Amino acid sequence: MSTRIINPANGQLAYSIELMDAAAIEAVLAQSQRAFAQWSAHSLQHRGQLLRQVGHELRERKHDIQRIMTTEMGKLRKEAIAEIEKCAGACDYYADHAAELLADKAIATDGSRSYVRYEPIGCVLAVMPWNFPLWQVFRFLAPALMAGNVALLKHASNVPHCADVIADVLREAGLPPGVLGVLHIDNDQAAEVIRDPRVAAVTLTGSERAGRSVAANAGQQLKKSVMELGGSDAFIVLEDADLDSTVTAAVASRFGNAGQTCIAAKRFIVVEAIADAFIERFVAAASRLRLGDPQDDATSLAPMARQDLRDELHRQVLASVEQGAVVLLGGQPDSSHAGYPATILDRVVPGMPAYEEELFGPVASLLRVAGEVEAVKVANDTRFGLGGSVWTRDAARGERIAGQLQVGAAFVNAIVRSDVRLPFGGAKQSGFGRELAEHGIHEFMNIKSVYVA
Ligand code: NDP
Repeated sequence: MSTRIINPANGQLAYSIELMDAAAIEAVLAQSQRAFAQWSAHSLQHRGQLLRQVGHELRERKHDIQRIMTTEMGKLRKEAIAEIEKCAGACDYYADHAAELLADKAIATDGSRSYVRYEPIGCVLAVMPWNFPLWQVFRFLAPALMAGNVALLKHASNVPHCADVIADVLREAGLPPGVLGVLHIDNDQAAEVIRDPRVAAVTLTGSERAGRSVAANAGQQLKKSVMELGGSDAFIVLEDADLDSTVTAAVASRFGNAGQTCIAAKRFIVVEAIADAFIERFVAAASRLRLGDPQDDATSLAPMARQDLRDELHRQVLASVEQGAVVLLGGQPDSSHAGYPATILDRVVPGMPAYEEELFGPVASLLRVAGEVEAVKVANDTRFGLGGSVWTRDAARGERIAGQLQVGAAFVNAIVRSDVRLPFGGAKQSGFGRELAEHGIHEFMNIKSVYVA
């Protein structure tokens, strides 16, 4: 069966691939198993040298890779280049820091020697989404490879060319075949792969629906899984916020990547005393965003990645408006293939899709609250718990509120973003497990206690 990828900016055919049959999947699994024996036996220094070379290849080929990303899922040229550079930076970071992150950890006991040792577990299946088609993969892959594991990539079905180009970059950098095996498979085939004894664990970034299915399959096989799922991050604007920087951040966080970011600010919880001033500036700034060709640097709002995703977002907007939300900006699909304009909904209240669900596109929900206490209550009134931010001139007050948010990442006067030095992951229905940093690199390792009497 072949899959045809449609360029979301113009509706034209961008790429097509054949799904793999059982024999092709078997060949990838067998190669992965052979690769693990070889890769895990290399020194950290050798793995680090090759990973740095991957970073170098990414930088060398960034313009070609960018065009592939933009053609497949519509990302703005500038955003794609920044994403590729972030991946290269992650390769450098884990090459530089793996020795310290993976060093044996001495623990004082009554034995003569006791310590914790970190050992690779084998082949990890990565089920990845289309929204950051390179970064989501490298966020998992760079630490996993330094840990001595190998990976299988089942990328989202609308970004197969990105999957192929990642494998090609690793090959060009000199990594042995099979260290990353790409599987062009559907979700039923992915379930079979999870059942295969050669697969040790699974990581998934994507929707709750996908997470429930993949985590259940992994659990059935008693295999470890990490789930990075959706979010509906609060962006709390207190009455003492600096409006200039807050509005700039609000626009960047909500409308960057056409709003298709798990840690984008989605619910703007604004204290009544500053609400009208904030909203007036926010609407003015968002109205200047220009939807158009993502390859053109004059465009500041990308199309969404697929027409069906745009249609689903519009359904959520219409249902919210029917229940009383007020459209301050946008709200009508563009005539282009998958474009949706910057949209701001005011008077969002419980029960509306804009309050209860993740809006995975360029739509901001405004929620007005009386003060700090209600802001925290509303921020936590969601099944999601990925990130959240607080905007105030009083950093200590911001930090105190950050401590009350039920999320995996709380930022004060800064946009929530992933950073190779900090663990990344969610609370509540946003998932479990962590990526990045010390916590992330240890997720797919055998944490072995060694005790010598
Ligand atoms: P999905 O969650 O369906 O896709 C993410 C990945 O999971 C893809 O590789 C997909 O494969 C795979 N997948 C989906 N279902 C299964 C399954 N049953 N078994 C194995 N793999 C599976 O995202 P969509 O493209 O459908 O986007 C829909 C919504 O998901 C968005 O509106 C947003 O809310 C959320 N989302 C959140 C992301 C985040 O970063 N938190 C990222 C992407 C989406 P395939 O493409 O072949 O179906």
